[in-house]
Amino acid sequence: MKPVYLDYSATTPLDPRVLEAMIPHFGENFGNASSIHAFGRKARAALEESRETIAGCINAPHDTLIFTSGGTEADNYAVRGVASALGKKGRNHLIVSAVEHHAVLDTALALRAEGFNVDVARVDEKGTIDLDHLRSLVNNRTGLVSVMHVNNEVGTIEPVREAAEIAHNAGAVFHVDAVQSFGKIPVNVDELGADLLTLSAHKIYGPKGIGALYIRKGVAIDSLLTGGGQEQNRRAGTESVALAVGFARAAEIAIESMEHDSTHVRTLQRELHAKIADYPGIVFNGHPESAIPHILNVSFNTPGIDGEAMIIGMDLRGVAVTSGSACTSGTLEPSHVLLAMGRPESTARATIRFSLGRQTTMEEIETAVAALKEVLATIKRPLGNPKSEF
Ligand code: PMP
Repeated sequence: MKPVYLDYSATTPLDPRVLEAMIPHFGENFGNASSIHAFGRKARAALEESRETIAGCINAPHDTLIFTSGGTEADNYAVRGVASALGKKGRNHLIVSAVEHHAVLDTALALRAEGFNVDVARVDEKGTIDLDHLRSLVNNRTGLVSVMHVNNEVGTIEPVREAAEIAHNAGAVFHVDAVQSFGKIPVNVDELGADLLTLSAHKIYGPKGIGALYIRKGVAIDSLLTGGGQEQNRRAGTESVALAVGFARAAEIAIESMEHDSTHVRTLQRELHAKIADYPGIVFNGHPESAIPHILNVSFNTPGIDGEAMIIGMDLRGVAVTSGSACTSGTLEPSHVLLAMGRPESTARATIRFSLGRQTTMEEIETAVAALKEVLATIKRPLGNPKSEF
């Protein structure tokens, strides 16, 4: 049986059209985009065209987009770069939401250890940031507020526009991690009120190893890397033209097929939801309406169920799912997102995330449900706990 991949939020397969666009840039167009000869100019042209395409997808001027090695680097750059620039001006207070990806959260916590003042804004039980709490945290020393657009574990869409207003009223810079929203729902830097915005290619059927940070003109940000003057002196290092071309092609395709993909995934997600909703003790995590349909995150309040064991059980049956974010699975730590949403540790540990994509089929959903039934049936229940019909 063909393995079933339901972990599209961790990464996506490269679209063949993206690979096709990239190939010449691994071959004949191998020049260094910083060289002034013809080889360099050709590479530069492809790089700048890619930048323009991606910037256009988020309604940003092309010269505001800096290529990075991925979402993690863009998040690190945004948080550290602004903290460094604004810390010198006395704005040494940062706020991040409790459900941020570790690339933001851990960077902020590392800065705390380095002497910055860091606050973490609470979320409610649906994973939505508590705007009143955020309002109570900002002050005239706040340099940066970082709130993600869509959460990678539960799919909740955050009220980014409102959070931006709170940040801006306090004179702070506002960063949005849009890694999980880009290509799935509209991302417009002006409508979101983003001063900085993180993107990553491999979540949208593009190549791994490339992302970008949008930096609104005039935002004070220090560079992290020293070296050459690439990327407007903001990110030293020879650019990967092939990856940039792949990123741009993936972005174009994602925007063109956004509506189609979204409808496809929504139909499948509803079916999956309906097929497992009756299981005793099941809890669906995330916002019931304000969420992307690509993710279905479920916990089981049934004693004896363990997320890691479920994932192994599913894997043995050919179905790939995860226990939260891929970056933290394998660590045995319960998800910080679910804990922040108020789930007890035992529930957070009994959680799996299905994430659906362009290639997911109804047959795969049926296979996954059948595998889940088998896995749950093998889990030993304490005496007196009636066997479910699920
Ligand atoms: N932010 C979010 C919300 C993500 O989901 C991820 C990927 N798991 C990242 C940042 C990191 O991106 P990358 O894998 O490109 O470093």
